[in-house]
Parts: sequence; structure tokens; C-alpha cells
Amino acid sequence: MLDIRTDNLRKQFGAVVAVDDLTITFPAGTTTCLLGPSGCGKTTLMRMIAGLETPTHGEIYFGDQRVTRLSTRARNIGMVFQYPVVYRGSDVRANIELPLRAEKLSKAERTRRVDEVLDLLEMRHAADADIDALDNGTRQKVAVARAVARQPKIILFDEPITNVDISSKLQLKRALKELVTRLNQTIIYVTHDQTEAMTLADQIALMKDGRIVQYATPRELYDRPNDVFGGWFLGNPGMNFVENFARTIGSDGIVNSPLFAAPVRLSGHGSEQLILGIRPEHVRVYPAAHAEAVPARVVNRAIVVGGQYLVTLQAGDATLKAKVAAETGRALGEAAWMHLPLERITLFGADGHKPDIALQAINPATR
Ligand code: ATP
Repeated sequence: MLDIRTDNLRKQFGAVVAVDDLTITFPAGTTTCLLGPSGCGKTTLMRMIAGLETPTHGEIYFGDQRVTRLSTRARNIGMVFQYPVVYRGSDVRANIELPLRAEKLSKAERTRRVDEVLDLLEMRHAADADIDALDNGTRQKVAVARAVARQPKIILFDEPITNVDISSKLQLKRALKELVTRLNQTIIYVTHDQTEAMTLADQIALMKDGRIVQYATPRELYDRPNDVFGGWFLGNPGMNFVENFARTIGSDGIVNSPLFAAPVRLSGHGSEQLILGIRPEHVRVYPAAHAEAVPARVVNRAIVVGGQYLVTLQAGDATLKAKVAAETGRALGEAAWMHLPLERITLFGADGHKPDIALQAINPATR
């Protein structure tokens, strides 16, 4: 197992900074998804790791070995691209076996390795199938199998699911999930699809403008984004943000806000403007008055995937979206009662970053 490290790695295309002085370690034996919107630099970063793009400056290491100036071939990595690369006019087994022949492995070892990946990807039955007769989802599985069978220490995936037919996408995703869980290789997986990243990754590197905004487990990134960008980019829809959520904040940190039924206090001091963030699925909504909740007006109500309702609420000047269970959604009239659980709230500073401040309930005994 090898970790992948970049040190001050940069790539510019003329005036465009695709990757901006990136220093990071992708731990050995884990799967990292590079996630972010189009143009954030994920493909360029992966291509530099692969040796397909020369950095403007900075270094790349695989374990202790500096590989920055090595050719792709010499880096000994496995790669899977957006479009399946297969050899026409031969069968599945021959496709997977080809690079093993180039490595001059014995017939017995080749057969063993091919059978192993065929089993791993549950495609033993298709071993003799003509590659030309397969749909592109299955061809992509063959391309994956070929990359894996060589047993490289590092495997790079560049949006391998994007161009697969809708009908085989889910199956391919499941196969990849199974695969990355079983393999010990260090895997970098580029995607712009958050569900794919949430499913496959041990860690997600969330990218924006050539930088990694946050490098964390999917859960951590989703629950505790350290930047409004992560709150906004992840989730469907993304996080609610409420600026000026407090009417006043006392010098003792006590917050006067129409969003809370009980008094709350800031755990630290921030003179700057704070933004309150909460995910729609964490906003609690009641059709009738509730002790913990504040009154709100239902501005919109729509059924979304899974039979849940996406409800838009107005409370004071704030507009928030809430995802609620079907029964609650159906029961709502024009008025609703809303509760924002403190432990689900993330505060951000005016610069979009997370300050070291949180909201706390005020314990009546200490008031
Ligand atoms: P996508 O998902 O659209 O591929 P990405 O996050 O992978 O986006 P990159 O393809 O790495 O982003 O591109 C990062 C930036 O670098 C973009 O502004 C892009 O236009 C620019 N760029 C990438 N490759 C080149 C190139 N060969 N020549 C000039 N500019 C490039």
C-alpha cells in the first residue's frame, strides 16, 4: 500500500489556475473521491497524479518515491476512464488478460488473477462473451477488471459511471462499491456526482477553484461542512443559510432571534456577522403549536423523491426549506411550527468559513 502526497502542486493553463498550490496526503489503502463542480480542477489533479499532465510546479510522491517527473508507464498505476477502453474483436477474458501477458505472467497466474477479478465483479458467467456484444456498462466493468487484475498499488478512476447507460449505472455503482471495499489499493476517484462520492468514498476531497475546501469522511463533510460551499454543494437541496438570524446579540452572547422558542447563547465571541446553516432534513416541522417550535408560514409545499415533502417556510425575515415525512407534509396548513435543533446548526462567518463558535441552549440554572 502506498499513500499519495502532493507538495505545493500547481497547474496553470495560461492565466487559468486549474490546481492551486495543493499540499495534501491521500492515505494508503483508502478511497478518496475528488468532488466538485465543473472546472474546479479535479481532472487536472488526477491527470497530474497519473503523469498525463506536467505540473507548473510542486511535487508528487507515491510513498517515499518522488514520481513528479516519471512517465505514466513508470508510475505503475491502474486507470479507468470516462469511456470504457476495451479491445474489440476479443472476449472478456482476453481483454482482462492482455496487460498480464505484457507482464509475462505465467498462464496459471494469469488465469488465477482474471478469475479473481471476474468473481469480484460478479461477471464470471460473462468470461467468454464477445466484447462487441456487451452494453457499455458491462464494458466499463471489463475496463475496471483489467485495471484491477494488474494489482497496481494505485488506481485512478475518472468519472467511470458518467457515460454509462442509465439502466446499468446503478449496477456498476454497486459493483464499484463492492470492489473498493474489498481492495487494499489506494484509490482516487473523480466525480461531480455527490451521491456517487457519498457511496464510494472513505474520504471526500471537496474542491473549488483549484483548492480542496475540505478533506473529510462523507458523514463529516455532510454534517459539519467547514465552509458554506460544502453546505451548499452537498444535499438536495443544499443547506439553508440565514444571515442576520439574530435581532440582537447581547454582550453576554445571548441571542434574541425569531427562530428559537427558548433563549440561546453563543459559545464564543464573534464580533463579525454570523450566518446560520441548517440542512432541510434537519428542520423539524409541526402542523400544530409545539413547545420547542416557533410559528412560521408555509410558503410552498412540494412532494419530492421518497414521498417526502419539501416545505418552504417563512419565519420573521428568514426563509427556510424543510424536508418532512409524508404524513407531516400532508397535515400542514398555511401555518406551521418550526424547530431548529441546536446540535444540527452550523454557524459560518461572513467570509463563509466556520468560526469556533456554536449556539448553546441556556441552562435555566445558570442564568
Ligand atoms: P470537469 O468536471 O468539467 O472536467 P474539472 O473539475 O475536472 O471539471 P478541470 O478539467 O481540471 O476541472 O479544469 C480546471 C480548469 O482548467 C478549468 O477552468 C478548465 O477550463 C481549465 N483547463 C483544463 N484543461 C485545460 C487545458 N488543456 N487547456 C486549458 N485550460 C484547461
